[in-house]
Amino acid sequence: MSWPATILTLYPEMFPGPLGASLAGRAMRDGIWSLDTVQIRDFATDKHRSVDDTPAGGGAGMVMRADVLGTAVDHVLAKAPDAPLLAMTPRGQPLTQDLVRTLAAGPGVSILCGRFEGIDERLFEARPIVPVSIGDYVLSGGEMAAMTLLDACVRLLPGVMGAASSGEEESFETGLLEYPHYTRPVTWEGRTIPEVLRSGDHAKIAQWRAERARADTRSRRPDLIARHGDARRPSPSGARHED
Ligand code: SAM
Repeated sequence: MSWPATILTLYPEMFPGPLGASLAGRAMRDGIWSLDTVQIRDFATDKHRSVDDTPAGGGAGMVMRADVLGTAVDHVLAKAPDAPLLAMTPRGQPLTQDLVRTLAAGPGVSILCGRFEGIDERLFEARPIVPVSIGDYVLSGGEMAAMTLLDACVRLLPGVMGAASSGEEESFETGLLEYPHYTRPVTWEGRTIPEVLRSGDHAKIAQWRAERARADTRSRRPDLIARHGDARRPSPSGARHED
């Protein structure tokens, strides 16, 4: 069954964009997932089709109106009642691989993309919307944040990556960054692939990779170590990783 994604946006022409190419594009053409856009402006009620107004309390920019968004969101909730409804916002919970995996295992997703200064807060109180942020920086709109989230989910859908690459060894899946990768040529600009990776000794390779994953996570992402410790978590399938 196809995994449906519905995007509420003022810029439907931005989609599928990069999601129409490579892995996600092929998966879409194969019917593994589908993408539908909803133009928020279609739910405006005045002759100017306005979707925004000045911020209460003053200040720069414009705010997306709760009444217009409420009707747009209700339209999507009626069409896709089972899919979780997210809103992209820097004020949201951080997008993590755990959340991506949960969404990919679910019935699809609906995503509201903000613009301007953001969305009238009353919408979040009045509708079952999960605010999600893709990182501690500010984009000009939610569309690219939604694409990032969708790309991360789609690659985990059954049949997208192929049996050989389930993604379970990857960064964040076990609470750590992944180990580094190398490929031919064996020597490049005087740098040689670590000998252990050319040894054919699978136990030693696994041990080297686990150590590098821990060391690199400790030096690059101490926040992950603080959150998860430096023991690898079981993979999502429950398969054991030899450390
Ligand atoms: N005034 C808002 C603030 O400071 O939190 C930023 C608004 S931003 C210019 C416009 C829209 O871009 C947001 O409503 C949101 O949809 C999207 N956006 C910007 N940064 C984002 C992020 N880090 N994660 C998710 N969405 C983001």
